[in-house]
Amino acid sequence: MSNSSGWVVWVVWAALGSFCDAGWAGDRLLGFGAAESQAQRALEASYDALLDPADLERWMRTLSERPHHVGSAHGQANVDYLAGLFEQWGYQVRLARYDVLFPTPKRRRLRLLEPTSFEASLDEMPIAEDQSTASDEVLPPYNAFSPNGDVTAELVFVNYGVQEDYEQLERFGIDVAGKVVIARYGRAWRGIKPKLAADHGAIGTIIYSDPADDGYARGDVYPRGAFKHPSGVQRGSVMELPVFAGDVLTPGVAATGRARRLDVADSPVVAKIPVLPISYADAQPLLEALAGPVAPADWRGALPITYHLGPGPAKVRLEVEFNWDRVEARNVIATLPGRVIPDEWIMRGNHHDAWNHGAGDPISGLVALLAEAKAVAAQFPGPARTIVYAAWDAEEPGLIGSTEWVEEHARELTRKAVVYFNTDGSGRGFLRMGGSGTLQPFLAQIAADVVDPQTGVSVAERVAAWVKLNGSVKQQAELNERGVLRLAPLGSGSDYTPFLQHLGIASANLGFGGENAGGSYHSLYDTFAHYTRFGDPGFHYGVALAQVAGRATLRMANAEILPFDFSALADNIESYVDEIAELVEKLREDTLERNGMIDDGTFRLALDPREALGAPRREDPVPYLNFAPLHNAVAALTSASAAYGDAAAAGTLDDRRRTQLNQLLFKSERTLLDERGLRSRPWYRHQLYAPGYYTGYGAKTLPALREAIEQREFDAVDEAVRRIAGTLDNLTGTIESATKLWQVDAGN
Ligand SMILES: [Zn+2]
Repeated sequence: MSNSSGWVVWVVWAALGSFCDAGWAGDRLLGFGAAESQAQRALEASYDALLDPADLERWMRTLSERPHHVGSAHGQANVDYLAGLFEQWGYQVRLARYDVLFPTPKRRRLRLLEPTSFEASLDEMPIAEDQSTASDEVLPPYNAFSPNGDVTAELVFVNYGVQEDYEQLERFGIDVAGKVVIARYGRAWRGIKPKLAADHGAIGTIIYSDPADDGYARGDVYPRGAFKHPSGVQRGSVMELPVFAGDVLTPGVAATGRARRLDVADSPVVAKIPVLPISYADAQPLLEALAGPVAPADWRGALPITYHLGPGPAKVRLEVEFNWDRVEARNVIATLPGRVIPDEWIMRGNHHDAWNHGAGDPISGLVALLAEAKAVAAQFPGPARTIVYAAWDAEEPGLIGSTEWVEEHARELTRKAVVYFNTDGSGRGFLRMGGSGTLQPFLAQIAADVVDPQTGVSVAERVAAWVKLNGSVKQQAELNERGVLRLAPLGSGSDYTPFLQHLGIASANLGFGGENAGGSYHSLYDTFAHYTRFGDPGFHYGVALAQVAGRATLRMANAEILPFDFSALADNIESYVDEIAELVEKLREDTLERNGMIDDGTFRLALDPREALGAPRREDPVPYLNFAPLHNAVAALTSASAAYGDAAAAGTLDDRRRTQLNQLLFKSERTLLDERGLRSRPWYRHQLYAPGYYTGYGAKTLPALREAIEQREFDAVDEAVRRIAGTLDNLTGTIESATKLWQVDAGN
């Protein structure tokens, strides 16, 4: 997955740490002594010399030659090809196979019945200049995990179909109950759109890409430019990923042959109402047939029509039916055993399945991973810790291959997995990183070491320069005052989710983007020809990505002391608590203001009269909330982290204690899990990071607390505060144990 709007969520990026003034080059690497740093840098130089853009191009050409969704013929050919490459380079290769539900379309039909008639084409046009688009193996546009359905009703335009859009419709007095809604792509994980539509009583959802967001209003369309062809459609899953990831029939357990399975009808994550994605060419006649109020200014897209909200007189019939088949998902797992500490695993993954040719998503990230694996295997001596490369299947329908593997190996991973580094579709421009707070200084040091192919400065400096010009006020202030940009927290949208949010394995997601905007995502046009013209011509950023992710893997694999940093984490947590306190204050003021307007009768004057048609409701005042346990837990964590830093700077370790310390360091992320999970979604156990229940891709930090407040469920706040504070106390205990392992000379 990892879509272009998903990128925007973590544009915030990364940690510049204190390296702005320090100048790392030639200095010690985090986790290494002085002599060992030199040896590691020499190893990285020989590693860099083996990265060849011609390899990336050749692998992409082969892997994206034909459509290769899970269960397809070319998907199987790619698995064999990948396994062959890893074997040739000396890896121990295993295929991990799961039996997973993967619906494919049997019947798709969409007609406008009134006031005029029109039948949507629902198909994407082949393009003469791009041979791939003529393939007869293409999976037609659909949303996986829509239920079967045949619904006829009046149409309502709901903008992006997110919560605030329904609040706006309510002010217009428009009810979507019993209607079919048409929403544009963007602003949230697509699965949220049918979920919210169904919550409001709608009986069907149509999703389209508006040219304002993804089409001619952004730039020339394919094949002249990179942007969405008028017939282009974004496919994608609409399962309720914020509830759990993986096979929809086997939540929490591996989808092996003997697993107990739910009936499709009982799976809580299959969408409740039929959903179909369409192109803007197909959407225009539907939107044009709507009457009712003119859409608010910020709801209007770039089609040459006046956007109306409806309902009706446009009436549509939407028919979808699917083959509810189980197919075999096949992950390729390639292992290079560690020389010294084989039971500590550094994990690095990218998915291999695509909706169709998938040159951008996911092959652009996968070819970087292959380049890394080839160059890593050529290093002598081999890595101290075990390195595991994974090419995941069935990511697109719901992070299925990775999640089933994680669920099958949960116990072993809990004991052995040090870290998981993920990539997915990647482009060119700016390094984007998100991840666990403990990894912030480590990743910042790497970003300072890798040179941007276009500008010649480090990839970190390039991001810093961007923030100085375009960053938010808060980002600029942090950069100026402290030389620090925070590592963005992870929400969801790619295969790090089961590692981080289900098992508590420290994770990061890495990629380049920002200068490869375009509309090929999940469409017929995500091809080799498109990617090599508009994505990353020459594969220079593919090589840069292999330099970043390869350093991350190799440094973790060889570090004497694992470079996890608790002070960075504590500082980030404190900022999350501050953000939530600000959120509460804002909510309190807004509520008082709204209720005050109702009481003194100025409400109608204060708003655009057209928006005030619906009667405003009085809201309960926001109570004063007790965050004291959280503040105390953060204070204790901060001082324990500082004490650990002092002990590590001054202390020494014998081999036995070093082994114990490294175990405590990488298992520290596990202490941030609560075994009971988040409310109404127990699969998600991490107390710091989760995808938003109502936003999907974007991260919610301290999710139990933040979402209770956002949903105005103030009764749930005390319990959320207590649980989060409890996990922070567990982490503080782990850090104190780690501090005691350092032997500090009393004379120091
Ligand atoms: Zn992807």
